[in-house]
Amino acid sequence: MTSKRFVHRATLGVQGLHPYVPGKPVEELERELGILDSIKLASNENPLGPSPLGWAAAQQAAGDLNLYPDDTGHRLRSRLSREHDVDPSQIVLGAGSSDVLDMVARTFLGPGVNAVFANHSFAMYGIYTQASGAESRVAPALPADHPTQPFGHDPGTLLAAIDSNTRVVFIANPNNPTGTWLSRTELEAFITQVPPEVVVVLDEAYTQYVSDASFPDGIQWLAQYPNLLVTRTFSKIYGLAGLRIGYGVGNPELVSLVGRVRHPFNVNTVALAAAEAALDDGDFVRRSAEVNAAGRTQLGRGLHALGLRFIPSVANFLCVEFGLPGIDIYEALLREGVIVRPVANYGLPNHLRITVGTENENRVLLDALTRVLGR
Ligand code: PMP
Repeated sequence: MTSKRFVHRATLGVQGLHPYVPGKPVEELERELGILDSIKLASNENPLGPSPLGWAAAQQAAGDLNLYPDDTGHRLRSRLSREHDVDPSQIVLGAGSSDVLDMVARTFLGPGVNAVFANHSFAMYGIYTQASGAESRVAPALPADHPTQPFGHDPGTLLAAIDSNTRVVFIANPNNPTGTWLSRTELEAFITQVPPEVVVVLDEAYTQYVSDASFPDGIQWLAQYPNLLVTRTFSKIYGLAGLRIGYGVGNPELVSLVGRVRHPFNVNTVALAAAEAALDDGDFVRRSAEVNAAGRTQLGRGLHALGLRFIPSVANFLCVEFGLPGIDIYEALLREGVIVRPVANYGLPNHLRITVGTENENRVLLDALTRVLGR
């Protein structure tokens, strides 16, 4: 029996908090159902493994584990400053980009103020907001029957949700779990209309999967919009999710404020070295994007053939509609040794999110789905 002795002593935000539910690890499925050789298409990880250059650097750096990391990650920040043509003072490192989102929440949010974000956007926006004691103002998404961006961000409702107590707007481009996106014109028009004292966190975790050359790169707008903070991660296309490293880029005042709440040594030695090396792994990044684009097409065709609809996506996952509770299909797929992601907690109870895998993994998923649906 769970004791209820302490819950009323937790802060109000934490009292009602539902923690993040990550994708089920392969080992857990093996432990629970005894299924060996299962595949995980549940957490938008890189199916090709880690960046080889990053991995080699990680192994070398592991020899220094007796030492604390370089607290400010000077070398990586210098390398990133060249990558993005910004000053190192504009970059804050995090243990994953989630850590940066949390730092933003702890810097700007608290009781009496609010954060604005769209329905069906990344779960941590709401969790960090609530943990801080601030109010989440969830803007309605575009309708399910929208011709190009069903369930996507609606700049109009986001703007309408902003009031004088709004401190932060979180916006993901592309968005997770929908895979939808805002064009350069839409996004810039949106940022221009946000009051300049409201911080806009533009979460670009999946941006490198987008092949369209006209896709917006928020970092290029930083000089124009001092209230903009762009977050990026090494967890996705660089294949370093297990090391936990990401970063935020913004104007120096914003970055230095956010850095006040950064935990000392928040990014570990191995992650710092691996990330720096991975930035030079252009071949791996290109191959990852190519394999993803081909895999997304392969999955899309297979899903169509099964009569299933999915939300158009530019990222490394597809959000698929089943017309019945996704959890049932999820559990049946688990028994087939395939782990995908339920998204009922994202307000999408009849969908599942499926990460694009290797060609073989995609085929295994489609075959399992065919059996589960009895087609
Ligand atoms: N933003 C989005 C939109 C995500 O989907 C994720 C990971 N699922 C993150 C941020 C955080 O990733 P990480 O902490 O691994 O950088």
